[in-house]
Amino acid sequence: MDRELVVVIDFGGQYNQLVARRVRECNVYCEIYSYKTDLAKIKAMNPKGIILTGGPNSCYEEGAPTCTKELFEMGIPVLGLCYGAQLMQLVLGGGVEKAPVREYGKIEVLVNTNSKLFSGVSPTTVCWMSHNDYISKTAPGFEIVAHTADCPVAAAQNVDKNLYAIQFHPEVLHTQEGTKMLSNFVLGICGCAGDWKMDSFVENSVKALREKIGGGKVLCALSGGVDSSVAAVLLSKAIGSQLTCVFVDHGLLRKDEGDEVEAVFGPEGPYELNFIRVNAQERYYSKLAGVTEPEQKRKIIGEEFIRVFEEEAKKIGAVDYLVQGTIYPDVVESGLGGESAVIKSHHNVGGLPDCVDFKEIIEPLRDLFKDEVRKAGLELGIPEKLVFRQPFPGPGLGIRIIGEVTAEKVHIVQDADAIYREEIAKAGLDKSIGQYFAALTNMRSVGVMGDERTYDYAVALRAVNTIDFMTAEAAQIPFEVLQTVMSRIINEVRGVNRVFYDLTSKPPGTIEFE
Ligand code: GLN
Repeated sequence: MDRELVVVIDFGGQYNQLVARRVRECNVYCEIYSYKTDLAKIKAMNPKGIILTGGPNSCYEEGAPTCTKELFEMGIPVLGLCYGAQLMQLVLGGGVEKAPVREYGKIEVLVNTNSKLFSGVSPTTVCWMSHNDYISKTAPGFEIVAHTADCPVAAAQNVDKNLYAIQFHPEVLHTQEGTKMLSNFVLGICGCAGDWKMDSFVENSVKALREKIGGGKVLCALSGGVDSSVAAVLLSKAIGSQLTCVFVDHGLLRKDEGDEVEAVFGPEGPYELNFIRVNAQERYYSKLAGVTEPEQKRKIIGEEFIRVFEEEAKKIGAVDYLVQGTIYPDVVESGLGGESAVIKSHHNVGGLPDCVDFKEIIEPLRDLFKDEVRKAGLELGIPEKLVFRQPFPGPGLGIRIIGEVTAEKVHIVQDADAIYREEIAKAGLDKSIGQYFAALTNMRSVGVMGDERTYDYAVALRAVNTIDFMTAEAAQIPFEVLQTVMSRIINEVRGVNRVFYDLTSKPPGTIEFE
């Protein structure tokens, strides 16, 4: 097969899959390999170019992921990103050290537009930075082609050898001209034709699932969220009545959500998926009593989910396959994606397997990002309202309540969140904000209402813009809208006397507030 290939070498960065995705968007086929892969194997694939990803380590430390000099001597163009850029410089004789000033988030970068990498890019362009180390000295033969106020080497090149190093992350969409830079590399520098096309995901998946499952029985855990809904409808389309979906209402759902899910997926709805609803609120609240640590809450909610699911599965009996709506960012954040560091545990990755009598797990959305899942959902004919529903974590409001979870606190955050969502929709902002929700801080403070002293909770409002959910920043909601939300929450929700708006971006924060 003489398909053009770009190889991405994974050093454990959070955005490794994004790099591959951007390359595919340039219509160039691309595969990811661990940095441990034998160089001879990579050479044998005859790639048109190689991209080295970012990574959490410091490349000058003992035992940090590395590569050999030969990688840069094969005559194949190489682009290093962040860790990859630092490593390239270090291996070829440059210097990398802890930076005097760390850079996080959107930073203005001054680029030399004569560089092939920055051809057609504005001389001053906003890029996404996330680094503690920096290139203190370029390797021999390299010239600096970009810098920022705090970072003397934001990009460097050795044109003769076709080697390029970028300190920032062009693969992240916050780098405004990042796609242009990556396309300059794969099309301009590597000389790829850009004529590869991705096939239809839904069509291929339905076909592949039918072939794989045959006449087998399939069980799916449905949460009502976008991911598991798309997974369930995909399966329903592929195998119809062979599918059973179990929906556990853990009492940590958004206001009225359990009933809404039942209305769409239950027997009255348009889909064939043998829907079973389990009301398990009380079980969850008693297990969570007195627990304050977020990771522990996630574990308890995950484990209880498994117990409830197990009981239902026993009633159904042995099945052939178990479906999970895992999507790519879950895989990365759980530390299962190659070399990435564990950020937090996800209850929708793993867990269930031990409690169900089944042969194999199916994760049909495992390689997709959220926006791709939504595209697939629309392709499947799922109503827009559901496809563009706000993402909601598996552990639900359990992790949007800081400190102990109680029925009272659940009601407070449900009501506050419902008001927030209502006002965002009224202001016409519901489609333009990536994700927004209310959380309940564990802070109580003194206020005055109706001339009386109050000592109540503070609600935190979160709203972020993100395209791929790997990075995010606080949405700029008009102040009047925030004020309306604030006064409605304080007037209508008992137990709240303050409302905060969270300005933190990701990184260093996460999208959730736990
Ligand atoms: N760990 C390296 C640093 O802090 C690289 C970071 C990255 O690749 N995002 O500079």
